[in-house]
Amino acid sequence: MPGDAVVVGAGAIGAACAHYLARSGWRVTLADRDDFGRGCSYANACLIVPSHSHPIPGPGAIRQAARWMLRPDSPFYVRPRLDPGLLGWLWQFRRACSPEAAERGFRALLELSRAGLALFEDMALEAGLSFFYRREGLLHVYLSDAGFREAHHEHVALQEAGFHARLLDRTEALEFEPALSPRIRGGLFIEGEAHGDCYAYVVALTTGLEACGARLITGRGVSRIVVQGGRVRGVQLEPPGGVPAAAARSAGSHSEEIPADLVVLAAGAWTPALAAPLGLRIPLQPAKGYSATVPAVPAHSSVLRVPLLVMERRVVVTPLGDRLRFGGTLELAGLAPGINPVRYQAVVGAGQEVLASPPPMDQAEAWYGFRPVAPDGLPLIGFAPRIEGLIIASGHAMLGFTQAPITGKLVAELADGRPPSVSLESFRPDRF
Ligand SMILES: Cc1cc2nc3c(=O)[nH]c(=O)nc-3n(C[C@H](O)[C@H](O)[C@H](O)COP(=O)(O)OP(=O)(O)OC[C@H]3O[C@@H](n4cnc5c(N)ncnc54)[C@H](O)[C@@H]3O)c2cc1C
Repeated sequence: MPGDAVVVGAGAIGAACAHYLARSGWRVTLADRDDFGRGCSYANACLIVPSHSHPIPGPGAIRQAARWMLRPDSPFYVRPRLDPGLLGWLWQFRRACSPEAAERGFRALLELSRAGLALFEDMALEAGLSFFYRREGLLHVYLSDAGFREAHHEHVALQEAGFHARLLDRTEALEFEPALSPRIRGGLFIEGEAHGDCYAYVVALTTGLEACGARLITGRGVSRIVVQGGRVRGVQLEPPGGVPAAAARSAGSHSEEIPADLVVLAAGAWTPALAAPLGLRIPLQPAKGYSATVPAVPAHSSVLRVPLLVMERRVVVTPLGDRLRFGGTLELAGLAPGINPVRYQAVVGAGQEVLASPPPMDQAEAWYGFRPVAPDGLPLIGFAPRIEGLIIASGHAMLGFTQAPITGKLVAELADGRPPSVSLESFRPDRF
């Protein structure tokens, strides 16, 4: 029987969990310490791309990462430090690079991503849920002969996985997407992939939740998950006004407790900090990425029809109405705030390089976000070990938008005791 549920964290994952739980009859509270959707779900590259379901670890990943580490403008960086959490994570990452583990991971992620895309299709038809959803495919673009030779292998691999993809030489690519610069060497178009505004998706879901009577709490963090006798009892909120809990206690102000039969921990890169006091080890590393959003692309600049992935630079260019977003890089440098100007400029430069007439960047919104990444590159979705009534939904790495709706649906199925519509074996939170 559905009862009271609290979802901690209102990014794409938490908002989707709250949405599906409410639809299942749970009385939902959704709590975020910030405004909804302002974490990693705010200005990501907005792709919904089952074709990119390869986990981050895989054969050759360590060699490639080592090469990239030598360049200050590369799409990957690990800040060297003696952090036992990071060292253990890197050790497990290395183990997940075997061809067998990578293939298993790909199959599991692909199933999840495809189910996610199918739910986006349903959702896009629902009245009132508007988030710039488009299903216009994804175009990989290549800048070099060597890159374009790789495209041939990618083409075969995509077809084997059941995708419809077309190789385009330079002339065909320019005909297909006139906004491209003639500097490109060629392209690979993947049909059926989608994109939409991830932040608008969170806003649409939370607006719907409010309309159906859910309790929405913004600007107040959850300080702890309350567990008694091996069962979840609710959550404790930080005192209002961002006062640290200890200071508020000594000033006599009380932090509020929200009772719940079910708690869903969906706090993205901050999930480990909330799980650790319960004795739960959730090995997620924050992987920082950057984006630059041009607010209104002038008419004389390139107007993109489909999103692009600049393969050699690992940078995405996404059209979002009259806005244009460049996104990329992956930095394992902890939760340190701030933007590295060299890497940010590399993201912007790669986007500009492939457009015939790039927009001016002076009004662009610069942003960074922390992807939550497990060492095997797969999310954690399922009941926490040893604590009844606690579900973990986090660690979606590069695919948190793509997999948000299916994660929400799976969480509701678990909560209701229904069989999950996708096998959760690979995503068990206790697998580490
Ligand atoms: C540059 C970049 C490009 C990307 N592009 C894509 C893409 O094209 N497609 C795709 O599918 N994915 C993409 N991703 C990945 C995607 O953004 C993430 O996987 C996804 O946003 C994770 O969602 P989340 O809800 O788990 O985390 P978040 O969106 O970070 O949400 C977690 C929330 O928890 C809240 N929180 C934390 N601690 C507490 C607390 N104590 N109490 C209450 N609330 C708390 C935070 O404030 C935050 O709102 C990209 C990421 C980056 C950085």
